[in-house]
Amino acid sequence: MTENDWGREEGFRRTESENRDEILRADTVGEEQDEVGLRPRLLEEFVGQSELKDHLRVVLDAARAREQTPDHVLFAGPPGLGKTTLAGIVAAELGVVMHVTSGPAIERAGDLAAILTNLGDRDVLFIDEIHRLPKQVEEVLYPAMEDFQLDVVLGKGPAARSIRFDLPAFTLVGATTRTGLIAGPLRDRFGLVERLDYYAPVELQAIVERAAGILSVSVDSDGAAEIASRSRGTPRIANRLLRRVRDYAEVRADGVIDVEVARDGLALFGVDELGLDKVDRSILESIAVLHEGGPVGLSTLCISVGEQPETLEDVYEPFLIQQGLLQRTPRGRVVTRAAFTHLAVDPPDRFSTRRSLFE
Ligand code: ADP
Repeated sequence: MTENDWGREEGFRRTESENRDEILRADTVGEEQDEVGLRPRLLEEFVGQSELKDHLRVVLDAARAREQTPDHVLFAGPPGLGKTTLAGIVAAELGVVMHVTSGPAIERAGDLAAILTNLGDRDVLFIDEIHRLPKQVEEVLYPAMEDFQLDVVLGKGPAARSIRFDLPAFTLVGATTRTGLIAGPLRDRFGLVERLDYYAPVELQAIVERAAGILSVSVDSDGAAEIASRSRGTPRIANRLLRRVRDYAEVRADGVIDVEVARDGLALFGVDELGLDKVDRSILESIAVLHEGGPVGLSTLCISVGEQPETLEDVYEPFLIQQGLLQRTPRGRVVTRAAFTHLAVDPPDRFSTRRSLFE
């Protein structure tokens, strides 16, 4: 990451759970260096999300033609789908610097003021996990987003006074895994709100083939398709599985990844045909076996699998729900019939009378 193309990192902090090294964790970031070279730089290199790209293309072209900053943009979606990459693309397409920070790293209004006063004209400010910005920081952000103004309060009590500074025009790009947690007034200040969806297997295959080209790994199309199909719809995981299979191919095969090498390599690393890892399986098993299919409350489930509620809700559950293996019901989490089949566990008899929940 060089200063010119990715801007400066400003107090970017990782949460503890992000430092863990699990092969299928979409939010694991220990391999940032590797990721940098794989990130698409321009919109046309970004695979998939075609509707989102169309919207962004129009907004960016219009801003460029008017020689103004575009509206502020909010990207929402599970980790590893390309939100940070898109923020970089916005900056690159506009030919400006991107400054990177995150909601939890900005603790006080003064932290944000320091970042804002450091921006160059028309720069992009990327705030990851923007739903975790403290309330008092959000309030400084509102006038900055709307009028490029910074209100600073000096002193306390009756002697306090407020000074207003002009800021350079900038584009805020926010990323969140939880749109529901973003305060209405903040969300309303984004002119473009885009949701990223999980990628289709063919798109992931294209991502794997692109990454293989950059990393000089030789992979045939069936090998790439095999890796893609186990990547939980997530480019970050696709790239990571490619690197693990490359290691396997170099050590155990002649360096070429075909479908068999991909299958054997992925099996070695405990990734099953659906791309589930041991935590996913333990979530499903815990509900299916320990709790006889559910419903199970979130906190009980977290204790059973040893994960934090946010991790379970943001990282693991969306994919299991999307795959039709798990459901959230008002009474708790339940597994579906497909989960019992996948785990090769017989559903308890009583479920046959509650078919609707488990179809
Ligand atoms: P997020 O910010 O949503 O967690 P990132 O933008 O960090 O996700 O993307 C993770 C990795 O996945 C990046 O390093 C990039 O290489 C790859 N990636 C994400 N989206 C795409 C895409 N559409 N095309 C190609 N690679 C992608």
